[in-house]
Amino acid sequence: MKYKRILLKLSGESLQGGNKNTNIDPAMLEQYAAEIQTVREQGVEIAIVIGGGNIFRGGQAEALGIDRVQGDYMGMLATVVNGMALQSALERHGMYTRLMSGIKMEQVCEPFIRRRAIRHLEKGRIVIFGAGIGNPYFTTDSTASLRAIEVQADVVLKGTRVDGVYSKDPEKFSDAVRYDKLSFQEAYEKNLNIMDMTAFTLCMENKLPIVVFDMNKQGNLLRIAKGEETGTLIS
Ligand code: UDP
Repeated sequence: MKYKRILLKLSGESLQGGNKNTNIDPAMLEQYAAEIQTVREQGVEIAIVIGGGNIFRGGQAEALGIDRVQGDYMGMLATVVNGMALQSALERHGMYTRLMSGIKMEQVCEPFIRRRAIRHLEKGRIVIFGAGIGNPYFTTDSTASLRAIEVQADVVLKGTRVDGVYSKDPEKFSDAVRYDKLSFQEAYEKNLNIMDMTAFTLCMENKLPIVVFDMNKQGNLLRIAKGEETGTLIS
């Protein structure tokens, strides 16, 4: 295996699959659990950050007459809901898991304690980081970068709907070009939308590579863990 410890970032929306009538599609939970299991079986240590966009985003708050900071906390709680769903799916597949939250909620999950998170990973437990970093005005992409650095993951794997980073939006422009590899500098200069700036800068400054890949293609997660060229590597 190329990577011994990975941090997988999944968006909340990805849990909806194609079904916009539900927040969480059981078929997506099942698919992700199966993909994650194949990598875990190879001994890779896995941490996961899942977003909350399928339930609530802080940016939606103002239109509802809700103050922004309150909305951000609502978004953070949404990530815990998704984390609990994913945790159940992973456990159904026989994996050992821990959900750790950036906001204390002891009846539901452990608080995030860095050393404890590392210990869980060393023991082979899959650690899901919920509630973002616990602060408003951040995103789960920033959470992914920060937690990856804190637990000394080898790489951030950003699962998306497309198979890597393109020169422009491939869903809108047919002449968009896909990159196999990029340096942080190139990605910055070309203004490519890989993660938000806070998340991107954290990775760049800490020399933490990012792989953007299609999480919905079967076997992709394992391919990347093995070091096969899939998606776009930013390093
Ligand atoms: N959020 C936050 N601080 C964090 C992480 C998340 O305030 O550290 C809030 C923010 O409002 C965000 C929402 O939680 O809109 C859901 O996360 P995100 O939009 O990153 O989820 P995704 O788009 O990946 O589903």
